Amino acid sequence: TAFLIEPIKKATNVAILYQEGMTGFERFMEMMAVKPDIQDSPGAMELEHVLGSIEFQNVSFRYDENQPNVVENLSLKIGAGEYAALVGPSGAGKTTICALLPRFYDIQSGEIKIDGINSKDITLASLRKNIGIVQQDVYLFAGTVMENILYGNPGASGEDIIEAAKNAHAHEFIMKLPNGYDTDIGQRGVRLSGGQKQRLSIARVFLKNPPIVIFDEATSALDNASEKVVKDSLERLAQNRTTLVIAHRLSTIRNAGRIIVLKENGIAEQGTHQELLERNGDYAKLQGVQ
Ligand code: ADP
Ligand code: MG
Repeated sequence: TAFLIEPIKKATNVAILYQEGMTGFERFMEMMAVKPDIQDSPGAMELEHVLGSIEFQNVSFRYDENQPNVVENLSLKIGAGEYAALVGPSGAGKTTICALLPRFYDIQSGEIKIDGINSKDITLASLRKNIGIVQQDVYLFAGTVMENILYGNPGASGEDIIEAAKNAHAHEFIMKLPNGYDTDIGQRGVRLSGGQKQRLSIARVFLKNPPIVIFDEATSALDNASEKVVKDSLERLAQNRTTLVIAHRLSTIRNAGRIIVLKENGIAEQGTHQELLERNGDYAKLQGVQ
């Protein structure tokens, strides 16, 4: 009956998505019918024992051949375990840079490397298995809270899911929902706040446990309490991983090991919060307006 078939079908889809290394972002792109035609290179390899260093070498990228470059000759190195942040005006290419790392698009020139290996020489599944993404606008799937966290790692146990939710500061609000972890958060289900959605998305990444994490902060403001817990769970998530945070609120990244300030035409400056304030450049100006 439809009763039985539905959940099985859903579980299979989750497994297939996971095998292919897909997580929220790409699934979302697929649904939006903008999935680009990216495939494994012949002889592509699997990553093993990933430390998590990231390098962009003279990377240029444009979405459309007839449009100007969105990323222009970008060179950037983030060491394994480093906590780096990208800030800059809207449209500078921050979200694009993050989409290039898991190879949602192919670059026109330059190289992107993970642990010194060109990402084009790595299988897509292996590349994406090692990268966790918290999107700017968190996309939840039809289903329960449990199923939504499970997307991070469909083989996980109930215990693992709860631990991930606790790490993401999501367990408490989940327990207050009408059916706890079994609460439907699909279209006809319970509506969650922006902060709650972000924490579910962070729980997904905790469950996936990748060595590299990209966090694209929500553009819409969260209330103060929610912002604080999201920031705290992000900082926990960043521990022992390479983390790249795109921040819209400078308070989020004050503790970052390095802040990279982007302009329309590339990197304007980089350093710690303190160094950049003393430099009195673009970053210091951004502080002024906040
Ligand atoms: P940011 O995150 O810094 O605000 P984005 O990376 O979102 O910047 O966008 C950089 C530029 O690329 C903008 O001009 C934007 O309009 C364009 N852009 C972003 N996504 C797409 C897309 N999927 N297709 C075409 N152009 C895009
Ligand atoms: Mg963006």
